[in-house]
Amino acid sequence: MPLRRRALKPGQALLVGRLDFAPATRTRDAELRLSVWCPYCRREHEHGWGDPPFRLDVVEHRTAHCSPGSPLARDGYFIGADPSHEEHNRDQAKKMKAWLAKQLTQQGPHEACIAVVNEGPPSAALLSSLGLEPAEPNASREGGEP
Ligand SMILES: [Zn+2]
Repeated sequence: MPLRRRALKPGQALLVGRLDFAPATRTRDAELRLSVWCPYCRREHEHGWGDPPFRLDVVEHRTAHCSPGSPLARDGYFIGADPSHEEHNRDQAKKMKAWLAKQLTQQGPHEACIAVVNEGPPSAALLSSLGLEPAEPNASREGGEP
């Protein structure tokens, strides 16, 4: 269950920053990265960010990338997308989703079904691209009514 920003308690550290889409290379898949500014280390810490659908209003806990001596080093911190860069962040998340969608069309149905599990029922377009029929909206009532 994603943790919303407002669920954080006072005193829990939240570092916010900009998302960046990192294109796939020969050795790894594409990913979203979040670069957050750390006021203690006075530099950015880079973390991988999220799962589909890459919501911008959630926070995730991370092990600190801090230098020894930072008050955040022991317990880590929460990270989240900076609302003042919302347009940029949304754009980067869109690139990630587009990359994933492209992957789905190049994979078999099994992998595609695993990937869409967190996003609700697969779209008719996705199903038809996999050669599957979308379920009838009233299929569950079949036979119960004249
Ligand atoms: Zn730090």
